Amino acid sequence: MQILLRKIRETESPFTLKKDGLHYSGKFWRSGKHRVKIDGKIEGDLPLVCDRCGEEFCKPITESFHVEIVDQPLKVDDSLDVIECLDGIVDFDMILKSEIASMQSEYHLCPRCNEMDDFEIEY
Ligand SMILES: [Zn+2]
Repeated sequence: MQILLRKIRETESPFTLKKDGLHYSGKFWRSGKHRVKIDGKIEGDLPLVCDRCGEEFCKPITESFHVEIVDQPLKVDDSLDVIECLDGIVDFDMILKSEIASMQSEYHLCPRCNEMDDFEIEY
């Protein structure tokens, strides 16, 4: 899903997207002349790789996210949640993909390794 930033209105518009077994929903609106905000939620099974044993597994998630998209070069004081789109196109697929990628880059343990962790704590 791609939308021209200048065509996004100041009133909130809802969106829902389904991709790779994940369900995205939320709203987006224009927060400034060159700015659009997205408030969304990601639900579904997130494919992950265990950081300890390298096993692939899926984890059911419900995560909310907030991003801001600007069609100007970023300023130094812009937060990490600000995404630059100099071509003026708000690309939801790209934005959601990078949200998923940042979640996957966190530290994850598969259920088996997780249980082993609990085991160690108990003793
Ligand atoms: Zn593991």
